Amino acid sequence: MVKVNILGGAESIGGNFVRIEDGDRVLIFDQGIRFDIMANYYTPFITPRSIAELRDLGALPKSEWYRGASEIYISHMHLDHLGALSNIPERANVHLPSLTVYESLEEKWRESPTWLSLIPRKYFVNLEEQKPLETDKNDVMAIPVSHSAHPSYALLYFGKDETVLYTGDFRVESFLEKEEFVKIKGGEDLFTYLGENKDLKVDTLIIEGTNIGSSRPPITPADASKMIKEIALNHRPIIATLHPLDIEYAHFMAKLATELGMKCYVASEHTARLLEKFPHQPLKPAIIEEYVSYPTFLEKSTLDDVEEHSLILVSYREVADLLRDLASINPSLLKDAVSIISEPEPEREEAIEYSVLANWFMKVGVQHYTIRASGHYYPYQLKRIIAEIRPKNVLPIHTERPRLFSKNLDRLRSQTYEVENNSLESAMTVSVREPSYDEIKDLAQKLYFARNPEITQPSDETLKVEGYWTKARLILQGKMEMPKYAKKAIYSRRVYHIPKEFYSKEAHLERLKDLLSWAKEEGQVQKCLKNKAFKKATRLIAEEAINRYGVDKRYAVQYARMVLARLKSKVEIQTKWGLI
Ligand SMILES: [Zn+2]
Repeated sequence: MVKVNILGGAESIGGNFVRIEDGDRVLIFDQGIRFDIMANYYTPFITPRSIAELRDLGALPKSEWYRGASEIYISHMHLDHLGALSNIPERANVHLPSLTVYESLEEKWRESPTWLSLIPRKYFVNLEEQKPLETDKNDVMAIPVSHSAHPSYALLYFGKDETVLYTGDFRVESFLEKEEFVKIKGGEDLFTYLGENKDLKVDTLIIEGTNIGSSRPPITPADASKMIKEIALNHRPIIATLHPLDIEYAHFMAKLATELGMKCYVASEHTARLLEKFPHQPLKPAIIEEYVSYPTFLEKSTLDDVEEHSLILVSYREVADLLRDLASINPSLLKDAVSIISEPEPEREEAIEYSVLANWFMKVGVQHYTIRASGHYYPYQLKRIIAEIRPKNVLPIHTERPRLFSKNLDRLRSQTYEVENNSLESAMTVSVREPSYDEIKDLAQKLYFARNPEITQPSDETLKVEGYWTKARLILQGKMEMPKYAKKAIYSRRVYHIPKEFYSKEAHLERLKDLLSWAKEEGQVQKCLKNKAFKKATRLIAEEAINRYGVDKRYAVQYARMVLARLKSKVEIQTKWGLI
């Protein structure tokens, strides 16, 4: 029996972690970062300190998830799938879609002044490149799919008696024509492969559901192409943003420029590097020297002599720089310019940046459009996907709406059955992961505390007798919605049962006073926030939480860190203004 465990990404977009156990073989598919969790703890001013901290917060996979697994496969190199390679706790082979892309990314991270410098691997991690459409020594085959990062693969595992297909992130249509796709991706796509191998039976399908429940307009690459052409007839130049890994889109835009008789420039180092390195990239644009500093054979240009009749490719993060530079160096170029924004996938933190970007476009007087074909399939395409894969079991992943997704899959099961009119055996069933004892207890306690705000520690027995255990289990299985009272209590406070007064301003100030007088005594005011003193403060607050408020020991330290994070800014302010 092949055991498939989705340890990360079952209820979130990002942080995918699939553990597959087949006899004594253990494989891992993806080991991503949870950006939704990072957004709860970090700002541009509060940044990650270490991999251990990120792991502790749940933003990176736990060490025990890797137990016994020495073969890790990465579907594509967006960070919510690739994750931090330095998080891998023991000797392992990491199978990457492309070493070229990885090396270029690693170089960038190592130089980065931000937390990204934490990502690169430790010495005991060995890297290997996946070869598309070849079954490797672990019986895994990488099959090319279209997505906004190049290269991207679905992973097919031929187990001892069961076959597992993990889609990774994918869209149904590509920006590339079929022939170009095969040339650039090194093989045909997932659906062609399945079509040619009709006897392949997928026992378990792990499928992404990013767009399930989203109201995003279902723009396909063909739609985008039509809109961009229309715009290009009326404006020059075109400034187009793209994700640096989105080679598919870069290729498509460069081709479009050729078609429209426009010259194509790249104003982004990373994109230029990748375009140059891919051997099958037939279109070589010119680079704008101000933004590309590495030695290259590509044709060079400077900002003053960029032609009006042109298309400029730039990364989403660098477009504001380009606009400002053009405004001062070559303002005439902006007179009739238009911009086409293809990023971002709607992720919270980037959405904020978007409004700032919009202000810059307004400031320099450039009309801009957001036209993006999602890197993920659209909900209406799910029917076709399921009909083509015809899996026995389905496990949703990379979705914020697992219940809705399961419902959709359930409905499709009966429809597919009618359409195919096959034997019962081939009709699929939607299975939901059985939650663990700890998960059930965790949620049962939360539900209990939401109803019983007085401070006691309920025993397992109490939780069971009063029905919280069963409720928690049903909620975790997706068979019951989270009750409203619990939602409010759990999400508004976010942590375990901690009485309101612990959160009050007075309590904070009180604790702050204690902390400061202690730090003063120790002569550590300046260092109060640094390691040693901070550790002690953490312990003090954790003890207080346990003894006075009956907080579960397991969460006390995490809780104390949260309280300190809030205190930190206050202490800093007081220190700065000489109040202490
Ligand atoms: Zn992705």
